[in-house]
Amino acid sequence: MAPLHSERLIGLLGAHAVRSGEALSSVDAGFDPANLDAGLAVLPRTTQEVADVLGYCSAHGLSVVPQGGRTGLSGAARSAHGQLIMMMQGMAQIVAIDAVSHTAIVEAGCTLQTLEEAVRQHGLTCGIDLGARGTATIGGMIATNAGGQEAFRFGPMRQRIVGLEIVLPDGRVLGDLTQVIKANGGYDIKQLFIGSEGTLGIVTRACLRLSPYEAPGTTALVSLVDLNSGIRLFRRLEALSHGRLLRAELMSGNHVSLSARDHGADALAEFGEQGDCAIFEFTDQAVLEAELGLAFEEGLISDALLCKNEKERDAVWKIREDWAVDRAFPHGLWFDLSVPLAGMGTYIDALHARLHAHDPAVQLFYIGHLGDGNLHITVNKPAPMTAHYKAISALVYEELTALGGFFSAEHGIGLEKREALAEQSDPVKLALMRDIKRLIDPSGIMNPGKVLQP
Ligand SMILES: Cc1cc2nc3c(=O)[nH]c(=O)nc-3n(C[C@H](O)[C@H](O)[C@H](O)COP(=O)(O)OP(=O)(O)OC[C@H]3O[C@@H](n4cnc5c(N)ncnc54)[C@H](O)[C@@H]3O)c2cc1C
Repeated sequence: MAPLHSERLIGLLGAHAVRSGEALSSVDAGFDPANLDAGLAVLPRTTQEVADVLGYCSAHGLSVVPQGGRTGLSGAARSAHGQLIMMMQGMAQIVAIDAVSHTAIVEAGCTLQTLEEAVRQHGLTCGIDLGARGTATIGGMIATNAGGQEAFRFGPMRQRIVGLEIVLPDGRVLGDLTQVIKANGGYDIKQLFIGSEGTLGIVTRACLRLSPYEAPGTTALVSLVDLNSGIRLFRRLEALSHGRLLRAELMSGNHVSLSARDHGADALAEFGEQGDCAIFEFTDQAVLEAELGLAFEEGLISDALLCKNEKERDAVWKIREDWAVDRAFPHGLWFDLSVPLAGMGTYIDALHARLHAHDPAVQLFYIGHLGDGNLHITVNKPAPMTAHYKAISALVYEELTALGGFFSAEHGIGLEKREALAEQSDPVKLALMRDIKRLIDPSGIMNPGKVLQP
């Protein structure tokens, strides 16, 4: 069957746009080694080509896995034999940047970094940033409703999207590429596609909202006396009128020590030995310095480093963005949670206690976007942990809903969290999700098995 599809797809798009065999195995599979398992991929260059392919797939019951940069962390881009991968890197044009209206129209395969560099020429920013910026695409970020380091200021991807163009599974093109933020036209259908992880259609173009760019004046690494002190300091920095807080990231002390030592940055590792740490970026160096001095006197922080140059700044961010902990514990269990800031200290203390009571040998690491309460937790042990997933996840999710938190923050559901979605969601919401999936994708060809369990 596959050679037949391959020949027909070559007929539709040309041989240059269809890959299989060696031509495909030389492609970087990205975060999940199984992403390319389908063995057959198309690289459309226009919305019409996407529509032609989906029309073909729909008519022949061929299921499609959309892929952007393949940096997704929950298995949503994984493919299997008998499926077709739709790679979006052939649609990577920046169509227009409107520096007066503060919008950009861009094709889905454009990477975040490419778009950010282009809009910076106009003194603007996309208002969203994440570690995978060089590879993650705008389409993939829309499909996962990505969040990242600036979400406490600008919201996640959903809040950056003004308009979308989408190809539906039957090949129809849904044109909603509005360029204004106020556009009330009944049901806002495009919202369904943001965060749908490729299960409803293919995003081909998007209109993004831009904001004035502010250079990071100063970056500081601080050791917090405890998590609640860090949250108090965050709120205080956020409220200052002389200068602006641009980033606020949290790291558990053991994450800082392990990651810094991995990079040979022993002096930075000592920050982690004192406890949880935060990175703050603020526009005005003098104001940040004065505030950290006050925080020290008041007993909110025990140490602080103000980066003197780019090299020091890079070293601090490397501790946050590198994956040293996951290299050290390749079999750990990952969670991506949202916790209201008011309950975050209590939640972490209680989780430590629950995990210790369950198994004193497990270690809890976390990093997070402090400003919006997003915690990336890993529960590690120098041994495979997969068999313990059910027991550990029950401990991680315990009391989360009661605190007002959510089991899934910014990485999406994909394959990894389908069970948790089924367990944690309101049954009415789940039933509506299934109805919507059936309505938009009646033949079930769009990224089947992702988000919703079959
Ligand atoms: C180092 C690193 C740091 C990260 N940091 C963050 C972070 O801070 N915040 C955060 O939110 N995420 C983060 N991520 C996760 C990841 O970068 C995001 O999920 C990103 O949005 C995925 O984009 P992508 O282009 O790689 O999509 P892919 O991984 O290729 O695909 C992800 C999902 O989107 C679908 N998809 C892709 N393109 C389209 C399209 N055009 N139309 C419809 N569906 C499509 C796929 O089918 C899949 O379901 C990080 C990942 C890494 C590796």
